[in-house]
Amino acid sequence: MIRAVYPGSFDPATFGHLDIIRRSSTLVDELIVGVLNNNAKSPLFSVEERVRMLEEVTENIPKVKIVPFEGLLVEFARKMDARMVIRGLRAITDFEYELQMAQTNHKMEPNIETAFLTTSLEYSYLSSSTVKEVAAFGGDISQFVPEIVIEKIQEKMIKRRV
Ligand code: ADP
Repeated sequence: MIRAVYPGSFDPATFGHLDIIRRSSTLVDELIVGVLNNNAKSPLFSVEERVRMLEEVTENIPKVKIVPFEGLLVEFARKMDARMVIRGLRAITDFEYELQMAQTNHKMEPNIETAFLTTSLEYSYLSSSTVKEVAAFGGDISQFVPEIVIEKIQEKMIKRRV
């Protein structure tokens, strides 16, 4: 039984994240999407909101479970009884940080391996921060995120303006 954890901030989830979730879920028996609760990053959405959005957008993808976490990823993976961590690689700029994280995690917990999926070309430019920036200026984000995420971002932006 292969259980993997795909951790991230998902603030908010984009088509790039969904692509990694869809593809990695076909490689494992269970995929736990770990939603990081890290207030130091001042997220736009609370961890509960991010979990709920991910649950909605992944409801038709089998074997996927959304679980919030805080603290060390290796501890979360251990708690979930997962030996594999999935991360996405977009460009060379992701590589250095991801390599460092993977090696640190492996040092802390040699039983846990990180596997990387390269981004699908059509999403290689896509990040949650770009989506938030475009949305803040009233731009069209329908090519970047699912419908439900568009609605939630718009609600947030309206609340921030009043
Ligand atoms: P973090 O704050 O951990 O970087 P993110 O939510 O930004 O969290 O990303 C989670 C994971 O998804 C990371 O491994 C990141 O490289 C990957 N990812 C983000 N956007 C894309 C994309 N467009 N294509 C492929 N992987 C992506």
